[in-house]
Amino acid sequence: MPISFDPTPNTRKARDYFHRAAVEQMRPISRHYDDLEHAFPQEWVDWWWREGRRGPQDLDWTGPHDGMIRVCVQAEELCWGDAALYLRTPTAALGGSAVAAAGTPEQKARFLAPFDGDGPPVWGAMAITESGAGSDAAAIQTTAAQDGDEWVLNGTKIFCTSGEGASMHEGGFVVVWATLDRSAGRAGIKSFVVPACTPGMRLIGLEKKLGIRASDTATLVFEDCRIPRGNLLGSAEVRRREGAATGDKGFKGAMATFDASRPIVAAMAVGVGRASLDFVREALAREGVPVRPEAPRHAQGAVERDVLEMEAELQAARLLTWRAAAMMSHGRPNNLEASMAKAKAGLVVTRITQQVVEILGPPGYSQQLLAEKWMRDAKINDIYEGTQQINQLIVARRILDYSSAVLR
Ligand SMILES: Cc1cc2nc3c(=O)[nH]c(=O)nc-3n(C[C@H](O)[C@H](O)[C@H](O)COP(=O)(O)OP(=O)(O)OC[C@H]3O[C@@H](n4cnc5c(N)ncnc54)[C@H](O)[C@@H]3O)c2cc1C
Repeated sequence: MPISFDPTPNTRKARDYFHRAAVEQMRPISRHYDDLEHAFPQEWVDWWWREGRRGPQDLDWTGPHDGMIRVCVQAEELCWGDAALYLRTPTAALGGSAVAAAGTPEQKARFLAPFDGDGPPVWGAMAITESGAGSDAAAIQTTAAQDGDEWVLNGTKIFCTSGEGASMHEGGFVVVWATLDRSAGRAGIKSFVVPACTPGMRLIGLEKKLGIRASDTATLVFEDCRIPRGNLLGSAEVRRREGAATGDKGFKGAMATFDASRPIVAAMAVGVGRASLDFVREALAREGVPVRPEAPRHAQGAVERDVLEMEAELQAARLLTWRAAAMMSHGRPNNLEASMAKAKAGLVVTRITQQVVEILGPPGYSQQLLAEKWMRDAKINDIYEGTQQINQLIVARRILDYSSAVLR
């Protein structure tokens, strides 16, 4: 089935709305919250909760809609504004994707309602990573044990984006991956929703980071943390399969959350890359340096060629992103395409932001400009939601039809 990438009128309106938000709400405070790493961006959170989350008022909901592409367009625009503030925005984020993908209607209503409600701002988060389990999520050591009508969680999660917001602001939640049976490997791993402020869940620290410094990246400890039985996402059954290479559907189902989130991270990367590229193009235009895609190659200058190559790469990343997003919206499996988009966009944004700093000369390296910040903000797109290497591995497995046991 052919997929059209023409944004619908609604998506164009959304793009314009979020671009204005990026220019007016985010850019003016971008440097400030990067400098003050763990300060709470009150004005951004307030604006988003009051206005931003509702989007443009005049959308035609009866017209055609392109689902995930609109989400990607929104992510690109807001990350053009500031990727760290985007991550700090009160939304259900990755935790919400997990609940939406694996939750029952009752769980969706219970956990997601505060995000549309009139109460105070709320955050969602996803806690998978541990000190010995990152790329290899099957190595998770955090345990969940049943005790009557409750699950009891024990373990430590690190590098949890929005971990502060989601664990400490009433109404939010953290989706925690834990094992019901360590001896069962990946078949034992399930995800649990831990509501904010649950006794036994403790925030013990925030990372000081290279980039996306306004984003709260938390270490969370779970000590005899009790949650209701109904907070397990999916089935409690541990289905072992003798010699099974890929684990049970529960683990695969949990991993499938990435098929939805990787296109969004790829779109975020494209947003940061475009911020850099737009900036350098404007700087070159002020200096009278032309960028002429129509000029023959031998007539183009070195910088001109660099800019055109970066634009082509960025466009390629965006098209891969939209393809993965569109497939998701059409209910088509997009595991390969989501990883392709994420791997490409992570690489492209890292290269573009570095090259832009180089082209700008010393001011590019200075805090006078945001170019150095974008270079720092770029690299994370190559790390979380599966590193560059892991996404390349997934692409290779899919293309060559190898299982994760054979190609790892
Ligand atoms: C700012 C930030 C925010 C984050 N937010 C979250 C979050 O919200 N929730 C969450 O759960 N986690 C989060 N993470 C964690 C992130 O997802 C992990 O860091 C990432 O998955 C890599 O895992 P690791 O750190 O254990 O590295 P490792 O798995 O130890 O990898 C180290 C290096 O080895 C490479 N490598 C590993 N295995 C292979 C292989 N088989 N083949 C080739 N190369 C390989 C990796 O690509 C990497 O370069 C965040 C991390 C950061 C830095």
